Amino acid sequence: MSRVWNFSAGPAVLPAEVLEQVKDELLDWHGAGCGVMEMSHRGKEFTSIIEAAEADLRELLGIPANYRVLFLQGGATQQFAQIPINLLPAGKSADYLVTGSWSKKAVKEAQRVVAGTANVRVAGSTEASGFTRFLDAGEIDLDPNAAYLHLCTNETIHGVEIDCARLPATAVPIVADLSSHILSRPVDVSKYALIYAGAQKNVGPSGVTLVIVREDLLGRAPATIPTVMDYAVMAENGSMLNTPPTFAIYVSGLVFQWLKRQGGLAEMEKINAHKAELLYACIDGSEGFYRNPVRVADRSRMNVPFTLARSELDADFLAEAKAAGLVSLKGHKSVGGMRASIYNAMPTDGVRELVAFMDDFRKRKA
Ligand code: PLP
Repeated sequence: MSRVWNFSAGPAVLPAEVLEQVKDELLDWHGAGCGVMEMSHRGKEFTSIIEAAEADLRELLGIPANYRVLFLQGGATQQFAQIPINLLPAGKSADYLVTGSWSKKAVKEAQRVVAGTANVRVAGSTEASGFTRFLDAGEIDLDPNAAYLHLCTNETIHGVEIDCARLPATAVPIVADLSSHILSRPVDVSKYALIYAGAQKNVGPSGVTLVIVREDLLGRAPATIPTVMDYAVMAENGSMLNTPPTFAIYVSGLVFQWLKRQGGLAEMEKINAHKAELLYACIDGSEGFYRNPVRVADRSRMNVPFTLARSELDADFLAEAKAAGLVSLKGHKSVGGMRASIYNAMPTDGVRELVAFMDDFRKRKA
């Protein structure tokens, strides 16, 4: 068997060690006589799996006791709707920061679901400058009476990231999309009222969505909310009002154990910072052959978009990279060029191979 270096933005590469474990346990999980996919979600085996997953996630992120962890379905996209349905009552307003395609989508969906009843307000946007940086403090105009402030702390397509130390100073509850950098570095969960993340980048397989929500935000939904969308009902039922995405939760739990074995998030941050440095150094040292447009302080450690000065070389770059075992490097269609996503499960060796390929390609083609 040979595996490629997979730079996909998502679904993304999973730790090889975790996949081996899944393979070993696929037909018979710990002597249960069946695999996790085939187990009752209410049986004692699966209960132990979801409880361990939650405990490990709480330990990794240092989640305070007054937050609930929900394992939901529908992806981060469903959260774009579920958040305003739960947290934006009629007659109220919510603030949104727009710093890339994903936060822009969140605004559009919120406007759609509360149309005519509540207000979705853009409190700052970098769209005019092409989503190449985060907002500076002076560009953010916050409503102190907003029901919440929504933002995306890592824009997967544009490669713009902020750490929780750079969140706007506000007493308004902060709701954040961490889909593409959760678990890549330590986070102060207490700064957020709600964190959400689709799993398929740094957490596990697609199909499960993490929601970490402060308890005082539960129970605010209107009576007409579909039951399955109500955070309070999901919290009361331990994410098991209905059948949860059992297999995705199980694999995510194995990833949490793997992260603990790596030394936790402080250790992951060191590794991720080093991988990102290697790649940005290659781009910045290429004398303009490669270019990343993002302001240096706002560059993502997870998603590195870059263009070739001579775009006629794009097809050759992708074909030669693929032949060298480096795949899924094509940039998102809205920004073009290339994108290397270097999530937790991408080893430093994979980034080294990419950098060696990029240096060699430049020397041959420049
Ligand atoms: N938010 C961010 C930052 C993303 O990167 C993505 C997907 O790539 C989404 C939201 C949408 O996630 P999903 O496909 O889980 O709905």
